[in-house]
Amino acid sequence: MTIAPERLSVQRVADVVSALRSVLRDDQILTSKPDRYNRARVPAPFPVHRWAERVPDLAVLPESTEDVAAVVRLANDLRVPVVPRDGGTGLTDGAVPLRGGIVVDVKRMNKIHELDLDNRTVTVGTGISMLKLNEQLARHGLFYPDDPASYPCSLVGGRIGTSGWSLIGSRYGHTRDLVLSFDHVLPTGEIMHVGDGIGRKITKSSSGYQLKHLFMGHQGTLGIATRATLKLFPKPEAELSPFWAFDNYDDAYACVGALARAGVATFAGAVLFDEYKVAYLRRDDEAYIPQPGDVRALVCAAMYGYEDEVRPAGKRLFRIAKEHRARYLGDEISEGDWAARHDRYATPLHGRTKAGQVVPMSWHCEDAAINYTNLPAVTREWHAIVADLRRKTDVFDDWGMFAYTNSVTGADYLTEIDVGIWEQHLDDAAWELWVKAKRDLAAVSLRYDGSISACHGSCREGEVDLVPEELGRGFQVMLDLKRTLDPNNIMNPGKYLLDRAYAENGGDR
Ligand SMILES: Cc1cc2nc3c(=O)[nH]c(=O)nc-3n(C[C@H](O)[C@H](O)[C@H](O)COP(=O)(O)OP(=O)(O)OC[C@H]3O[C@@H](n4cnc5c(N)ncnc54)[C@H](O)[C@@H]3O)c2cc1C
Repeated sequence: MTIAPERLSVQRVADVVSALRSVLRDDQILTSKPDRYNRARVPAPFPVHRWAERVPDLAVLPESTEDVAAVVRLANDLRVPVVPRDGGTGLTDGAVPLRGGIVVDVKRMNKIHELDLDNRTVTVGTGISMLKLNEQLARHGLFYPDDPASYPCSLVGGRIGTSGWSLIGSRYGHTRDLVLSFDHVLPTGEIMHVGDGIGRKITKSSSGYQLKHLFMGHQGTLGIATRATLKLFPKPEAELSPFWAFDNYDDAYACVGALARAGVATFAGAVLFDEYKVAYLRRDDEAYIPQPGDVRALVCAAMYGYEDEVRPAGKRLFRIAKEHRARYLGDEISEGDWAARHDRYATPLHGRTKAGQVVPMSWHCEDAAINYTNLPAVTREWHAIVADLRRKTDVFDDWGMFAYTNSVTGADYLTEIDVGIWEQHLDDAAWELWVKAKRDLAAVSLRYDGSISACHGSCREGEVDLVPEELGRGFQVMLDLKRTLDPNNIMNPGKYLLDRAYAENGGDR
């Protein structure tokens, strides 16, 4: 069996377009160069000199589950790759076509189909953003609390495809907890309903295998979610997000742990900024109010709820912070910076060479899930890897690290290192160094009993090599499931080492 469909010839593209015309209108089929090139990349670092390798042959704009199913059925019959795409903000190259084919862009599927005020659910097309959805829900005093830093521009389907992480997940849960059920088009074009119970709105069932998690976080390799039913909550009356400054990392680290372990019911999350992050914000982020030189680390905690819950909870957290030698930075910074956490597109577009020269750079974020007790060691080792990378080439800049609580117990943290990348200078040699650095970062996370990704997924070059090590026997189960559900390897081929499922004798085991 072939490992995956080859790139399409010009004639095959013409044949596919003509076949698609039997199921879609002409304005739903995009073949122009700008339409295709705009869907070739995501904001992850990118070998710009190899852009052309990642361009899809065409894109389609379905408007219903049936449209999606018809396109996928046809692609499966013709053995043409299909790549699901929502907001295109994913940071692990999930929506990047590695073998050309058809990008299925679901942005037109952005309707609210049903708002159920009594059961507190909403059913939406997966092309809607959380920002747009919450604008509508606010009229009813409700909100959908999936709140990534890409809040205005990532969409519900991409959140499902990545099993996203939310800034306020310690209070409300992450995408996997907030999505109750969804309609899903399998790689063969069949439509299935994923979720608990026969309806759409059950929050807990013990009937059969729990398939919801399987069809989330697969990075578009197992099909396309088209319509989702989501949990709703009362729109919080009060948000409190105090920022505290510290003279050193150790005090800030001790403080964030104590805040997270306090067990405060309205606690929505806490963030630790390390020394590199504070220094970087001071030197290069004009949107940030610079802290004096004696501020070496920062901590922020967020509480969401009713006014009469949040106020006493805040008092408790302020007391804990004071015990850890924290200095409150005041309301302006606290409110302003927490608001900025929800729209990280406002990152600077420049960084520094080793000589300190300002050059255009784009932002990249490498993430992992790390237990609290291992944060200091992982932080040290990650900075050393980026320092080594910087020693070898003048294309990368260390923009510091954040650690965000993953849950209300404070057990583990979404740990991220932000790296500035001078993309125009990413030649093959610099790209190889970057891929190796990513593999090294992932190896550190596993050595400290973490996960390669808490947030974005782990299917990009470098990190993906270590996924079989992280999952163990589970990786072989992944290969078996992929082969069963996608017999012709048409659904987002080339991702997550899943081609191995199609190699002779069931792949490289
Ligand atoms: C500035 C910035 C801040 C970010 N902050 C966060 C954060 O706080 N938390 C977080 O989790 N992530 C964050 N991210 C990463 C990104 O926003 C998330 O991974 C998000 O879930 C991707 O959604 P999207 O709609 O952009 O999906 P896309 O990038 O379009 O797709 C992501 C993956 O899902 C697949 N996919 C797309 N649509 C579907 C569908 N309908 N069904 C099945 N699979 C599908 C794609 O093939 C791809 O593999 C951030 C990114 C940026 C640029």
